[in-house]
Amino acid sequence: MRPRLEGAVAAITGAGRGIGRSIALRFAEQGAAVALAARTGPEIDAVADEVRAAGGRAIAVRCDVCRDEDVARFARLTREAFGEASVLVNNAGIHRVAPFLDATLADFEDTIQVNYIALVRVTRAFLPAMVAARAGRVINVASTAGKYGSRNQSMYNASKHAVVGLTRCLGLETAAHGVRVNAICPGFVDTDMIGEALPRMAQVLGVPQERVLPALMANVPIGRLLAPDEIAHLAVYLASPEADGITGQALTIAGGLILI
Ligand code: NAP
Repeated sequence: MRPRLEGAVAAITGAGRGIGRSIALRFAEQGAAVALAARTGPEIDAVADEVRAAGGRAIAVRCDVCRDEDVARFARLTREAFGEASVLVNNAGIHRVAPFLDATLADFEDTIQVNYIALVRVTRAFLPAMVAARAGRVINVASTAGKYGSRNQSMYNASKHAVVGLTRCLGLETAAHGVRVNAICPGFVDTDMIGEALPRMAQVLGVPQERVLPALMANVPIGRLLAPDEIAHLAVYLASPEADGITGQALTIAGGLILI
C-alpha cells in the first residue's frame, strides 16, 4: 500500500513531546516530510533524529509561536528544506487550572496568546502558499474543552472555543481555494499536560491527588486516557486526500466523554 501522505510537506507546532510528537512520527511514517517547531530545542531535535533514523525527512526549528520573527523563520526554513508546506498542524498549546476569580488577567492573556492568537499567527504564515497552490490542509488541535464548559479552567476552555470557532469560519472561507481546515477535539490524553494539571486540580478541589484521575475517568465511557498515537491517527486521516470531503469540522476523539 502506498504511504498515505506521500509527497506531503507538514509543518507541526508543539512537536517536541506529547500529541505533537506522535503526529510528527506518524506523519513521517506515512511519507510526509516534517518541519517541527517548539521552544525546547533538544526535544524537537530528538524527534527529528527519530524520524531520520527511520528513513524519513525532518527539520527541527526552535520557535516560540508567540513571536512573529520565530514563526516567519519557521515558515522560511520549512520552504527552504522541503518546498511550501501542504499541511499545517497547529498543535502547540498550554493549559491552566484556576477558578475564574483566582485566575489572573495574565493567565487569561497567556492562554489566549498561545492557544489562539499564535494559531492565527502561524496559520497566516502558511495559508497564503496553500491558497496559491489551490491545495492544503490545516489541522487545529483544539479540545473537548472547545465544545463544553468545565469548572476551574475557563481561560483554557475559552481559548479552545475560539479555536473551534475559527476552524468553522476558515473552513468555509478557504473551501473554494482547495484548502481544508478542520479541528481535532481530544478528551483526556496521556501526556505531560495532563500530568501537570492533576496536582493543580487536586489543590483547587481540595482532594488528594490520587483521587483526581479516577474521578475524571468516571466520566469517560471507555474508562481510560487516550494515547497520543490515537490522536495522531486521526490527524493522518485529516491530512490525507481521503478526507478531502471534510472541512470546517471539529472532530471529537474522547472515548465518549462528550457526544458532540
Ligand atoms: P504537552 O505535552 O504539554 O506539549 C505541548 C507542546 O506545545 C510542547 O511541544 C510545547 O513545546 C509546545 N508549546 C507550548 N507553548 C509553545 C510556544 N509558545 N511556542 C511553541 N511551542 C509551544 O501537551 P499535549 O498534551 O501534547 O498538548 C498538545 C495539544 O493538544 C495542545 O494544544 C493541547 O491543548 C491539546 N489537548 C491536549 C489534551 C490532553 O489531555 N493532553 C486534551 C485536549 C487537547 P515547548 O514547551 O518546548 O515550547
